[in-house]
Amino acid sequence: MRCDDGCGACCGVVPAGYDEYNAIIEYALAHGIKPIAQGVTCPFYQEGKCTVYPVRPTMCHVFGHVKEMPCVKGYNVNVDPKIVRKAVEESGKDSAVLLHEALVDFGIVKSTSEVLGDLTSLLEAAMAAQRALNR
Ligand code: SF4
Ligand code: SF4
Repeated sequence: MRCDDGCGACCGVVPAGYDEYNAIIEYALAHGIKPIAQGVTCPFYQEGKCTVYPVRPTMCHVFGHVKEMPCVKGYNVNVDPKIVRKAVEESGKDSAVLLHEALVDFGIVKSTSEVLGDLTSLLEAAMAAQRALNR
């Protein structure tokens, strides 16, 4: 999909699973990259680019490819819902559950029943879209 150089408008607070988180930490340490606190902008968005691009979370991969996460500039290239549905059926929910537990641990999420459904749906869509894109 098209993406404007140096835009980064979608690089805000991004949920990541444990494996994704660990991969980013490892990559950042290996490449001397230091996260920068900059409000709601992702700490790894620096000088107009993603400094951890090779290991960016699934959410970043699929931004602009699922209707739940539209590009604010309208460059969406959404994945065929049939492909997404098939991939969802083949995928597990482990990442979504682990992510939710982490959010509870950090006090970001108050109630399990309040958000788990939405979070699971969003992550399932994101994971499925990524799988579809990798085919
Ligand atoms: S996907 Fe859209 S909002 Fe995100 S960086 Fe690209 S052009 Fe900007
Ligand atoms: S990890 Fe990279 S692509 Fe994802 S929000 Fe941060 S800067 Fe943007």
